[in-house]
Amino acid sequence: MRRPFIAGNWKMNTTRATAAALAEGVAKGADALDGVDLAVCPPSCYLETVGRAIAGSKVALGAQNMYHQPDGAFTGELGAAMLRDLGCKYVILGHSERRHIFGETDELINKKAHAALAAGLTPIVCLGELLAEREAGKTMTIIKKQVDGSLAGLSPDQIAGIVIAYEPVWAIGTGKVATPQQAEEVHSALRKIVEDRYNGSIANSLRIQYGGSVKPENAAELLDRPDIDGALVGGASLKAEHFLGIAEKAVKLGVEKL
Ligand code: PEP
Repeated sequence: MRRPFIAGNWKMNTTRATAAALAEGVAKGADALDGVDLAVCPPSCYLETVGRAIAGSKVALGAQNMYHQPDGAFTGELGAAMLRDLGCKYVILGHSERRHIFGETDELINKKAHAALAAGLTPIVCLGELLAEREAGKTMTIIKKQVDGSLAGLSPDQIAGIVIAYEPVWAIGTGKVATPQQAEEVHSALRKIVEDRYNGSIANSLRIQYGGSVKPENAAELLDRPDIDGALVGGASLKAEHFLGIAEKAVKLGVEKL
């Protein structure tokens, strides 16, 4: 069964004080929510503060990025074991901002995925096409290339345990949400790629989140689709009531899938 998973990506949008207050609000509201997994991913300098604020709650801690080397002369970077030390369970990898602003390639994201798994972190691997790629009818070619590259060499058990976030780049932070049909089409095709590469039972265990302008108002129709197992939320995760509102939709739908 795939339990719904809602994660908040706070990006570079909090101070220490607002991060702590937001984390406390999410942790408090999460008490009333059963049947959904929740995580918040603050800026890395506030992981410890947020970890303290959510300690003992139903909310897990995630990082927004990491480097694949465990230690060494890599100025400005953090390794997987460091994130584990800070209490992280998840790490977002290959977010579109990492791919398109910082030039991360599938090859690099793949190295990071292997390193995260080896250290006991669960990667949330982001994939998604640009608007021009969608308009050129290349969505699935791009998605397949990203799956093949970013997830290369993962064992069947590893694939079943990771999370994929399908985030059409044109829908991130733009207010332009993919229609539930557009999202479901990619999610089910993605699951089929995993089935063809591994097998049906692994494909059925894999959680695939949708990301791109998800809000409490549009969450239910997305989460209700058979292959959408949760959401990776940017803007709406910066207000506890909005983030919790999305999680409540998942709970109300009772969507443990397959
Ligand atoms: C994201 O950054 O992963 C994201 C989906 O952002 P937003 O919800 O703001 O579109």
